[in-house]
Amino acid sequence: MIPKELAAKALQEALRTGADLAEVYVEDVNSLQLGLEDAKLERAERGVDRGAGVRVFFGNLVTYAFTDQLDEESLLNAARAAAAAGTGRSTTQVIDLTERKSPLHFPIEKPFDSLSISDKAALLHNMDQSARAFSPYIVQVMAGYIELRRHVWIYNSEGLAVEDDRYFTEMRGSVVARKDETIQRVFHGFGGRVGLELLERNDAIATMSGLAERAVKMLDAQPCPAGEMTVVMCNGWGGVLFHEACGHQMEADFINKGSSAYTGKIGERVANPIITALDDGTIEGRRGSLRFDDDGTPSQRTVLIEKGILKEYMWDLVEARRAGRASSTGNGRRESFRHMPMPRMTNTFIDQGTHDPREIIESVKKGIYIQSMAGGQADIAKGDYVFSATEAFLIENGKLTTPLRGATVMGNGPQTLMQIDMVGNDLALDPGMGMCGKGQAARVSVGQPTIRIPNATVGGTDVAVSR
Ligand SMILES: [Zn+2]
Repeated sequence: MIPKELAAKALQEALRTGADLAEVYVEDVNSLQLGLEDAKLERAERGVDRGAGVRVFFGNLVTYAFTDQLDEESLLNAARAAAAAGTGRSTTQVIDLTERKSPLHFPIEKPFDSLSISDKAALLHNMDQSARAFSPYIVQVMAGYIELRRHVWIYNSEGLAVEDDRYFTEMRGSVVARKDETIQRVFHGFGGRVGLELLERNDAIATMSGLAERAVKMLDAQPCPAGEMTVVMCNGWGGVLFHEACGHQMEADFINKGSSAYTGKIGERVANPIITALDDGTIEGRRGSLRFDDDGTPSQRTVLIEKGILKEYMWDLVEARRAGRASSTGNGRRESFRHMPMPRMTNTFIDQGTHDPREIIESVKKGIYIQSMAGGQADIAKGDYVFSATEAFLIENGKLTTPLRGATVMGNGPQTLMQIDMVGNDLALDPGMGMCGKGQAARVSVGQPTIRIPNATVGGTDVAVSR
């Protein structure tokens, strides 16, 4: 995207006022978004965005400037702007930029242009039809398609030169069923760091009739009882609770600030010994996977909790330097060249357990089973959460019975992690629809096996849902 010589020149310029480390991040983004609403194509948008950011480190003081022009003058100006905070003289030289390759391969089997835009729009129309044909109770259908190529290059004055070419394909659908005054919305999405082979591996049309079936079934749901009770949570997308209510607190910025429940707890028991949890950015095809993070650090598999013991936090370059660590864990991520990286999760999940998921449900005399989560609200720095279920069932004497509406589960993430007392052997990552917000948007994956929380607080009324 820019010649290596220009990157080196910008780095030299950025070091001029006495910085000990400088970085140039270059990004080129191309996207296509299609959105179908009420059987009409409401959105067809091609996006192009490119630019560069220069980051300069004076010890723990970090400054940043960016430009959406990639010519030499603009880049050197950004370097000068970022360096302006310094008052010293250059004592650091740029080491030769030698390109490093990642051992990770995320192959794209079918490129985006292997289908035309009209083929892609036709698929959305077929998805719409499939949902509507299922039942006259279906009153609203939305379907969406996103393809995104985000190509990044990162150079720094220690000689780092890496690139990561990130392709994402995503499909989304939502269905609203209505009977009299009762309205039920369900949604689903799937995607990942893949090409159009996504559409061969997932049946988007069958997904929509499945959504319609689920929405109609939930029209007859009963109000959810409230109180303390046993909650069994589905595998896969259910892992969003761990991500939001526990995972964020293991991010190093919260740790260094001392605001996290996990600050200073490495080596201590923070969960039931049946729980192991990981953040793994190296899994092929996953939404949160990276060859290199946005600091240029190779992505890795990090065991956060091993058999209940807290083992590691998630670090980016800034927080690792602040803590005097030799290296980060490859968790530095940024929304775009307009942003500085911060510690973020990649693909985060509770690991495989030993219980048969049926056995977990059979163990509950009276409780609720959460089959799908709408998302919810969590104070990511403290871990207090309220999550709502789009689909839930009463468990009576070990069997799923009445469908329930308006089920919400609330609690505190670190406390819930101590309480979980059964973990299934059905680990699954979510189908690939997770977007994490922490000031900046980031694509992530979450996951877990079926889990049991023996004494969760269940609220019986609908709460506002935002995600
Ligand atoms: Zn998040």
